[in-house]
Amino acid sequence: MELHPSEVTSVLKREIEGFDASASTSKVGQVLQVGDGVARVYGLDDCMMSELIEFPGGVMGMALNLEEDNVGCVLLGDATSVKEGDTVKSTGRIISVPTGDAMLGRVVDALGKPLDGKGGIETTDADLRPIEQTSPTVVEREPVAEPMLTGIKSIDAMIPVGRGQRELIIGDRQTGKTALIIDAIINQKNSGGGDPSNPEQVICIYNAVGQKQSTVVDVQRRLEEAGAMPYTIIVNAAASEEASMQFLSPYSATAMAERFRDAGRHVLIAYDDLTKQAYAYRQVMLLLRRPPGREAYPGDVFNLHSRLLERSAKVASNAHELNPEKYSLGGGSITSLPVIETQEGDVSAYIPTNVISITDGQIFLEANLFFSGVRPAVNVGISVSRVGGAAQTPAMKKVAGGLRINLAQYRELEAFAQFGSDLDAATQATLNRGARLVEILKQGQYKPLKNAEQIVQIFAGTSGMLDEVAVDRAPAFVEGFAEYMQAECADVMEQLDGWKTKWSDELKDKVQAACEKFRAQFV
Ligand code: ATP
Ligand code: MG
Repeated sequence: MELHPSEVTSVLKREIEGFDASASTSKVGQVLQVGDGVARVYGLDDCMMSELIEFPGGVMGMALNLEEDNVGCVLLGDATSVKEGDTVKSTGRIISVPTGDAMLGRVVDALGKPLDGKGGIETTDADLRPIEQTSPTVVEREPVAEPMLTGIKSIDAMIPVGRGQRELIIGDRQTGKTALIIDAIINQKNSGGGDPSNPEQVICIYNAVGQKQSTVVDVQRRLEEAGAMPYTIIVNAAASEEASMQFLSPYSATAMAERFRDAGRHVLIAYDDLTKQAYAYRQVMLLLRRPPGREAYPGDVFNLHSRLLERSAKVASNAHELNPEKYSLGGGSITSLPVIETQEGDVSAYIPTNVISITDGQIFLEANLFFSGVRPAVNVGISVSRVGGAAQTPAMKKVAGGLRINLAQYRELEAFAQFGSDLDAATQATLNRGARLVEILKQGQYKPLKNAEQIVQIFAGTSGMLDEVAVDRAPAFVEGFAEYMQAECADVMEQLDGWKTKWSDELKDKVQAACEKFRAQFV
């Protein structure tokens, strides 16, 4: 048979035109190597970063290392059934978690599955949200201007936190970091009566990373006892879980928070703690053979925390007009309280400095203070809030204005206290005042105070009403005074609870007069 060149070219042309480039790339691969919760997979040409990969037996994995001839993934969940040579499929999706009202009051894992034995959580596919999201853009944001009251005197008075702020809680182990968070969550009951359907109610999310199960059980019990669970979600990746679940859980928790934020709600989220998340990330990355950097962390450990915390923000009130697809209502916010554990108070280690530089301030808890009985053990000297001042209630701002300076002067002179009567009058007065202020800033656990109660207590200290009261009776005095105000001047207290109330002379005179009356009957 004779072949005409024109026929050959026409056949070739037809073949080339009909060539489907996508057909040759595969969505199926094979496990090359598996162990320690990570797997290398060959043949997944099209795999995306962070893509969800399906292993046999319903085990899921996530692609973290895209190399020339293989893909490194972490396995989520029980990996013992995965073998070399198994066939895997890429799914084209990234990990998503269920979100929404149904999650409230529940304890879930990093993938949103219930852990509390209270049955399934009813959510639909529409409730699923990818755990990684971009943060609100510059135009979609607004400055922090509303207070996020924690109910803790030393914080609300001197290191105020605003809605949309990221305030780091940093300290050694066992210095009361978790305790601060629990109190702040309990205090949110004051925002909307504890009813999650009230739009004023702040939604809370407690994300436990690498904690002991017993700690998480305790937190849950405390929140239940205080009636705080109905508006709270606990996202738990305990120390006993895979490292992959531990480092992913903060992103899942944030996705759940964003669902509320995008609907115009206010959310308080606590990550307890990000040190353990960094440990888990380092563990996974070393197993995947990423080159180790400083302190053996992979080079992108800064990004691990910055892309997480950037998602906390105050959304502009007109965000719905700017981006109707994302925001069903503007004005929502996510306030985050990340926790970092230090070793021997060393805030200059790698992870602490990273997170200090990402956040808008830090609350530094000091072991020495904690053991000397100053609890919460906030070191006022080096704790700051870089944006919250704008969000502090005006009355609190006025009353607590001199507190920081008074305490700093007291700390400076404290060493001389032992010389007693040899000191000049001014020094003695500073020492006297300082000792009482330290006493009244102490606060027990699970006793968050309303704004008005804090204001009148601190007023008693800073106005000098306490100077004649014995130091050890100062806490009883201010507590009694707050109760007295509640009973005798309920209208004043109601006013002081308002966010906008100014500390007018009229108001001040009323509180002062009441304080004098109370002192007469107290002494
Ligand atoms: P860890 O490093 O183990 O996570 P932590 O820093 O979170 O510890 P907590 O567990 O909150 O510390 O508190 C340690 C202990 O101190 C607990 O027994 C707690 O009850 C107690 N504690 C915390 N805050 C106060 C407080 N304001 N008054 C009295 N006790 C407190
Ligand atoms: Mg803790």
